[in-house]
Amino acid sequence: MREGIKDTLVFNVKDLQYEDSKVYKALVPPSGLDVTFDEVEFIHPLSCTVHLLRQGCDNVYVTAEIVSAISVACRRCLNPFESGITTTLEVLFCHSNESQEPASELVEGEERYYDGDTFDLSEDVQQALVLEIPTWPLCSEACQGLCPQCGTELNEGACLCELTDESQQRVSNPFSVLSEMLPEENKT
Ligand SMILES: [Zn+2]
Ligand SMILES: [Zn+2]
Repeated sequence: MREGIKDTLVFNVKDLQYEDSKVYKALVPPSGLDVTFDEVEFIHPLSCTVHLLRQGCDNVYVTAEIVSAISVACRRCLNPFESGITTTLEVLFCHSNESQEPASELVEGEERYYDGDTFDLSEDVQQALVLEIPTWPLCSEACQGLCPQCGTELNEGACLCELTDESQQRVSNPFSVLSEMLPEENKT
């Protein structure tokens, strides 16, 4: 392990014993975080740059940038493709006095309480990553997807369905569309 490169997102406030700010690099294996989502696979370790900044006595202001890549299935053609993923986060870890706040106050926006010794950024990183996962991933904006009838991948060429498709025939003969529509219109 090279100096300054961690493989976890757990930090100790003693890291700031001799200075008020410090930068860490962390390479965290995806298996080390709970970042398994449906149909999404992290294919690189999470490359994290974490800035710790002491605030007051025992509070630590943390900013982090996380870079990784996911493999996810295209919503149109269903083929998996690789997509870069980047997120940033800011959290202020406050040293909690036991008498002060109930546990339900632990996660309040970007302010969290910790025990004064160690704090764990894993959950924050996990939540920030979730927000970056595309809800409608497409391998390309121009992806043609699959033919709804025969399942042929249209990126690789047209299938035969188009030739026999009813709607295609109608377009080629506008009068047939009109003749179908008119009786409906007259009824109302
Ligand atoms: Zn696609
Ligand atoms: Zn088809």
